Amino acid sequence: MKIIQIQANLIEIPLPKEHHYTWVPGSAVKSIKFTLVKIFTDEGITGVGASHICFGEEVVHSIHNLLTPFLIGKDPLATERHIETIYSARYFGTPLWLVDQALWDIVGKAAGQPLYKLWGGFQDKILAYGAPSEPRSPQEHREIVHHYLEKGFKAIKLRLHNEDPKDDLAIVEAVRDEVGDRMEIMVDANQALLLNSPKPHPIWSYERALMMARELEKLKVYYLEEPLYIYNFKGIARLTQETDIYIAGGEWNGPIHEFKWLLDQGCYDILQPDAMQSDGLFRMRQIAHMAYLENKLFIPHTWGNGLGLVANLQVALSVPNCPFFEYPYDPETLSVEMNQAMIQEPLQVDAEGYLHAPKGPGLGVELNEDFIRRYTLR
Ligand SMILES: [Mg+2]
Repeated sequence: MKIIQIQANLIEIPLPKEHHYTWVPGSAVKSIKFTLVKIFTDEGITGVGASHICFGEEVVHSIHNLLTPFLIGKDPLATERHIETIYSARYFGTPLWLVDQALWDIVGKAAGQPLYKLWGGFQDKILAYGAPSEPRSPQEHREIVHHYLEKGFKAIKLRLHNEDPKDDLAIVEAVRDEVGDRMEIMVDANQALLLNSPKPHPIWSYERALMMARELEKLKVYYLEEPLYIYNFKGIARLTQETDIYIAGGEWNGPIHEFKWLLDQGCYDILQPDAMQSDGLFRMRQIAHMAYLENKLFIPHTWGNGLGLVANLQVALSVPNCPFFEYPYDPETLSVEMNQAMIQEPLQVDAEGYLHAPKGPGLGVELNEDFIRRYTLR
């Protein structure tokens, strides 16, 4: 099989209501944006991939000029040969792991199997945790958590991004009081990378992270995500050792080598790479296995679009140490249908809170082509 053509398009889908990210204070998101790539082969199989992290003319330029000349005529099934090609292109353009997704989509389609089965098929379903994003008061959290309970969710992730730690704890206390033992609670401090934002971020010191971890332990919180800066390896390692609550992170750590450094230094109990931000799907599996060898967990970051979600899901289902899966959904501003608008049948949790493997080969889903055409910028 040979690659004969690579197409890249920018898609922008307007949201019915402005969406606010707690981790970008003052933000007002008006649309869902992503780059969509399609790889065509001489045997009629087409692979697709998408990224929200990489969006803009520079991404299309990078795909056309930095990757296409090196992939045309090559065997799409030889994914291990293409990893360094994609990795090297980021130094002259942007990270292009959406191309790796599309190559793997071809591999699965050629084999007639969903990727997670080709990779060992450890599990066919996985517990999803609801991941809302809007900043809310403790009282608003009490109300919103019922949306998740009614949909079947057995876990929810809360965003801690208040200036005063007491206000953060009040959110977790309110939700624990509301749900009792019916839900696992995760929390995310989003301190690894403070994204440029209209309003200032709260900044956690080591002492604040330690105090929060201890308080969250009392509230039986499952994990504390990104309590410290991405490269504060010593602080992360110390916190991991000094506390009982799981410490999680890794969504902004790109190359697989960074995960080895993290593990070598005793950082984190749970590694959280993302198919769109790390070294592609197969190396994500390798990261999961490196964690497994040290009795650590792997729970990927999946904040992105429908294709990104299923790409991460295929990896998560394939490995033995992934007990939960992030499911972006905010009842008021980010519906499941909107976040997954690019695919034909959005993945929904069942009444027990599980997400099931999509049935199709490769990434497992069909694109919603009419919808995508309507919102294609170029
Ligand atoms: Mg996070």
